[in-house]
Amino acid sequence: MKIEKADRVKKLPPYLFKEIDRMKAEIVEKGVDVIDLGVGDPDLPTPPHIIESLKKAVQDPSTHRYPSYSGMNDFKEAVARWYKKRFGVSLDPGTEVVTLIGSKEGIAHLPLAFINDGDLSLVANPCYPVYHTATMFAGGDSYFLPLRKENNFLPDLDNVPEDIAGKARLLFINYPNNPTAAVADEEFFRKVIDFANRYNVIVCHDAAYTELAYDGYRPISFLEVPGAKEVGIEFHSLSKTYNMTGWRLGFAVGNADVVSGLGQIKSNVDSGVFNAIQIAGITALDSSQDCVIENCSIYKDRRDILVDGLKKVGLNVEKPVATFYVWSEVPPGYSSAKFASLLLKEAGIVVTPGNGFGEAGEGYFRMALTVDKSRIEEAVARMAKLNF
Ligand SMILES: *Cc1c(COP(=O)(O)O)cnc(C)c1O
Repeated sequence: MKIEKADRVKKLPPYLFKEIDRMKAEIVEKGVDVIDLGVGDPDLPTPPHIIESLKKAVQDPSTHRYPSYSGMNDFKEAVARWYKKRFGVSLDPGTEVVTLIGSKEGIAHLPLAFINDGDLSLVANPCYPVYHTATMFAGGDSYFLPLRKENNFLPDLDNVPEDIAGKARLLFINYPNNPTAAVADEEFFRKVIDFANRYNVIVCHDAAYTELAYDGYRPISFLEVPGAKEVGIEFHSLSKTYNMTGWRLGFAVGNADVVSGLGQIKSNVDSGVFNAIQIAGITALDSSQDCVIENCSIYKDRRDILVDGLKKVGLNVEKPVATFYVWSEVPPGYSSAKFASLLLKEAGIVVTPGNGFGEAGEGYFRMALTVDKSRIEEAVARMAKLNF
């Protein structure tokens, strides 16, 4: 029998990191000590008080049964408390919060609730790839809004053609941004809300990095801006904030109709997050946030070493005030792929070529600050020996 995959699988974009992965495997094979700045996955452990909370919760047999579809009430209340304390935003835990199996899960399912065949999602790009693959899975198409340096890596909404805006149902944005590390202010979010109201577009703000910020900068929530809750939702995650990527715990908050649509899809797909994990999540959100401050101070040291080193070797790069990514221009005469391959072959350093996040990322490469300071020092020293 011939196994034929569905069109939506055949239509998946080619995996752009395949070549890098292949080269990396080849170089590791040769015994090179590879420094991997490619993947954005915290190297630091989950704080002990959160682990202790899980240990206790898992001993309680009542957590062993099916969780509620939309999330434990106690967890959703903790999310509402955290939003109030952190952003001054009031949320109704009953209707404006849904627990997610990591925010990726919610982002991937949302278009199924709001996209019909042929509808468009507006996707700021370069970006986290899930926004457009999820749109495609739902039968829609993505229209990419390029993020350019001259616009501080914010999409230019005034330049979206009228007919495109008319067909759009969703707008995906993400600040602090992966991969560019750009940040957004209230003025930008106000423009987003105007745009959403004018064209009846649901705003999906991915806020995975609001807690990783430096130099006194405090990222805002989209929902802090008046009118935001009428037009959209915000995705959040415990993954990056508390070094919990493996735990799979996130949430979406905001417009009750959007939250409910996402919840309807989810209740037909999954059966919620293990209650013991949600209980540990309550501990994370309700406890002292000193562990987050400590995290940030570690990333800040790493950032300073890396960016100072990149500048010294002549790269055009700025210190990010948020996220754990550094987004650098490639040197003149190189494409993203060519420079990433040079770093790997000549210096044993893995970075992500910018075009892997979309065409508008060409000319850049991304480094994640998720390796120890001494390894970053080593990476910088190796780069200093290269000729480019
Ligand atoms: C890491 C990341 C996520 C997903 O995080 P989860 O672990 O699924 O909560 C979502 N968006 C962006 C931009 C990310 O970088």
